[in-house]
Amino acid sequence: MIALLANPAQIGHQADGHPERPERVAAVIEAIAKSDLGLVPEPAPDAPEALIQRVHDSSYVAMLDRAAASGGGYLDPDTYITELSMVAARTAAGAVVEGVHRVLDGKAQHVLAIVRPPGHHAEHAKAMGFCLLNNIGIGLVAARDRGIRRIAVLDFDVHHGNGTQHSFESDPEVFYASTHQYPFYPGTGRAADRGTHGNVLNLPLPAGTSDRAFLGAWEKKIGPAVDIFRPELLLVSAGFDAHEDDQLAGLEVTTNGYRELARMIKGWSIAHSGGRSVWALEGGYNLKALGDSVVACLEVLHHQATDGGGRVDSQADRG
Ligand SMILES: [Zn+2]
Repeated sequence: MIALLANPAQIGHQADGHPERPERVAAVIEAIAKSDLGLVPEPAPDAPEALIQRVHDSSYVAMLDRAAASGGGYLDPDTYITELSMVAARTAAGAVVEGVHRVLDGKAQHVLAIVRPPGHHAEHAKAMGFCLLNNIGIGLVAARDRGIRRIAVLDFDVHHGNGTQHSFESDPEVFYASTHQYPFYPGTGRAADRGTHGNVLNLPLPAGTSDRAFLGAWEKKIGPAVDIFRPELLLVSAGFDAHEDDQLAGLEVTTNGYRELARMIKGWSIAHSGGRSVWALEGGYNLKALGDSVVACLEVLHHQATDGGGRVDSQADRG
């Protein structure tokens, strides 16, 4: 079973002419509605404040709240905040937290949080790259509180998730893996950066990289590392801005490429994590490519969840 969680408050987080806009989530929800998936997103609650402050400095969160209360503006040249942005950000993180609870309670095998603002650039005390709160990181600490130790964060957004790496690179029980265009924003994510315990795997890709090399990186480099790490839970920073039609970046991944990647991630979840994964939307700025790619991934996850129950159990035992 798949659950979709959304944060309707995302609509209050918008700035004139900015590519990170409410229409992104609307396009995803519309593409799902037009598909044969039969899935409807449910609204998510706020993330508990205590979880937010395990990932972010309390004075940083207070600064964001003050900036919102005073009418908002730009925190850096890329990253805006509005009066309503913190409601959006708290429910975006809350969707990932709720998704973690759903899979750990056995109420869903896979969850997608269709949320914005995105999160993977947000550091412990710094907003950047359109991100205010690190949604996937806040979900990660929620899983820790449920007794889950080894957690893999798989980040296929075209940009390196500097915020997630920054917050967890010293934690030997977190494995962070990322493919990203390089050199490119935010400038981090060199292959030589392996984390304090070898628990980070960055696979920088040059502009123009297409499905073959992109999927090869996941299959031949990240897959074996996931097998060694044996995560109890997979968290996925699902950005779709590596798509060939995305206007913000220069990788050439196709919709079918994302479908193949979803098959791999599904397989790793079955092998190691009891068939469980929680995905959070990150980037993706071409509305059609974004909607189509999300549907392609959900078709893979949904097919497994409805047709593969017995196989999930037997393979999880072997894993
Ligand atoms: Zn991105």
